[in-house]
Amino acid sequence: MKSAVTYDLLIIGGGISACVFASKYLKNNITKKVGLIEIGRGLGGRSSTRISKKFEGWKLNHGSPNFNISNSKNNLLLKRYIDELLENKYIKIDDSEIFLLNEDSNLETKKKSEFSCGVNYLSLDSMSELSKKIIESNNLKEEIDFFFETLIVDMKFNDKEWLLTSKNGKKFKSKYLICSTNLLLHKRSLELLNVNQIPLRKAIPIHNDKKIDLLLNFLEEQTFIPRLTFLIYTNENYSYKDYYSKKQRYFYLKNNLEKKYRFERIIFQSQDNNKLGIVVHSKNIELINSYISAKDEEVFKQEIITSFNKLFEENSVINKLNFDEEISIMKWRASQPSGIAIPLSLQFSRKYRIGFCGDWFEGDGFGRIEGSILSALILEKKIKDLIK
Ligand SMILES: Cc1cc2nc3c(=O)[nH]c(=O)nc-3n(C[C@H](O)[C@H](O)[C@H](O)COP(=O)(O)OP(=O)(O)OC[C@H]3O[C@@H](n4cnc5c(N)ncnc54)[C@H](O)[C@@H]3O)c2cc1C
Repeated sequence: MKSAVTYDLLIIGGGISACVFASKYLKNNITKKVGLIEIGRGLGGRSSTRISKKFEGWKLNHGSPNFNISNSKNNLLLKRYIDELLENKYIKIDDSEIFLLNEDSNLETKKKSEFSCGVNYLSLDSMSELSKKIIESNNLKEEIDFFFETLIVDMKFNDKEWLLTSKNGKKFKSKYLICSTNLLLHKRSLELLNVNQIPLRKAIPIHNDKKIDLLLNFLEEQTFIPRLTFLIYTNENYSYKDYYSKKQRYFYLKNNLEKKYRFERIIFQSQDNNKLGIVVHSKNIELINSYISAKDEEVFKQEIITSFNKLFEENSVINKLNFDEEISIMKWRASQPSGIAIPLSLQFSRKYRIGFCGDWFEGDGFGRIEGSILSALILEKKIKDLIK
């Protein structure tokens, strides 16, 4: 058996909530030994960027392309943090054009929607860079041990200490634990991690902690929205019909059109190599199923281009694609939580020295970056005086 590395605090996950939590926590606890464990190759989680080895110079935000803060006026904690990000020049106001495509594929200026209400912000670099910059702020990156490509599959709590085991047998010990993902708390972990009990339930059996029991009960009811994203690497000469020059341009589809074309929104992302990347999102179950059952992925991709061209046939600013564009497809089993949101009062168990953050908590930002950031800020405040 490999011997365990011991930490004061371990964080599972490297998405934006984990990065916000880690940077705030370390600022106040510089002497603590902190480790961060993430299954991906880098930071960012669902708000990250595909930096392709095959297509040099391309950076496509394939999860969340930007983020909106629907309500910071009534929330000083969030307002101050967003101001901090603006001052540090990690983000800027996103004044890109947002259109709603109506039945005739004509353009209407977009009003309110889940992803655009309130104030919209854009990372000054890519979305993955935003998480990186957050964790690097105050020069704290060196204070954290990062373990990438490491999937935690088992958790144990013994003698006031957490013991985590990764899929490849690596052991980690810590006095406190933060879970920024709910994978290890939810029934979907059974299939994904190939385990026979939800890892947190196994670590803390029922009737030991009311908060943990409630948390797991709420999570039983939480569902997730699957999504497909198509990353289109357009060819050399592809451009807009007009002279639009901002970083991104968003096209949402009205309900009827979304049903017909099976696309949810299309985001044009200008690249440093002067090319124009396109990311198409879909949460249409029929399309997701036809992707899963597609015998020939190339045929499926050509169908996507056909639909794209039909959608923008009469459009005044968007050109058609040529069918020789490269497309890569990303399937998200759980792109966003939906249904029941978890009460913030269940964020921390003192008895078991475990805290939770992420977009799966209640509030205006449920299912979005706004909720991830806010839950991390609230958690850090809650435990500041407890973790000594
Ligand atoms: C396609 C798509 C479009 C979106 N669009 C928007 C949008 O326009 N606006 C918006 O605000 N939000 C949007 N969202 C949602 C937004 O991306 C999320 O709310 C936010 O990124 C969640 O951050 P998080 O830190 O809470 O969770 P995550 O980013 O999911 O971070 C959790 C991390 O934990 C890791 N992890 C999980 N289990 C384990 C384990 N057992 N061991 C090790 N590591 C583990 C994961 O790999 C992940 O990196 C979108 C999401 C998707 C997928």
